[in-house]
Amino acid sequence: MISSKIAIVEGDITQQKVDAIVNAANNSLLGGGGVDGAIHRAAGLGLLAECRRLHGCQTGDAKITRGYNLPADWVIHTVGPIWKGGNRGEDELLASCYRRCLEIATQYEIISIAFPAISTGAYGFPPQLAAKIAVRTVKEFLEGNSSVEQVILVCFSHLSYQYHLSALRKIFG
Ligand code: ADP
Repeated sequence: MISSKIAIVEGDITQQKVDAIVNAANNSLLGGGGVDGAIHRAAGLGLLAECRRLHGCQTGDAKITRGYNLPADWVIHTVGPIWKGGNRGEDELLASCYRRCLEIATQYEIISIAFPAISTGAYGFPPQLAAKIAVRTVKEFLEGNSSVEQVILVCFSHLSYQYHLSALRKIFG
């Protein structure tokens, strides 16, 4: 059952005890506000030092580092699209973020992974639409072959939690 591999929780991603957490970073990978700032604060300066060696990341792509002081062993940094009205390929770029993170997780034989709601903070992506794209893309990926057994979608507000839960119910029927 694919649906039993996906969990929606309300909480702080830096606290998640999983193999990998996903960071909603910016193109520089050199830290920012929101979830990125929280992850760098919790991981410590080793994370920033490793990120400097990655020379940035394209929107829709992802790169992996160690987790340093985090409970998670790995951080997969992805760069979500900035919402520009919806006609600039935002949906496909957001889906690509989820897919690329799951592809890298599979390469590293990662079993459990936690995602924040990529692009729904400073990048302005409508959160209800983003939740649908997140659930649909994770479902489609898990239908193929992957080491990943558990995907946790970590919501930072109750409203975000409700959007993800209703997307899950709609998509799994
Ligand atoms: P983006 O620039 O991709 O929009 P943000 O960090 O601004 O990234 O926001 C992405 C999402 O992460 C938002 O829904 C925000 O509420 C959420 N968020 C912020 N801090 C945390 C945290 N510590 N754990 C989980 N989610 C968080």
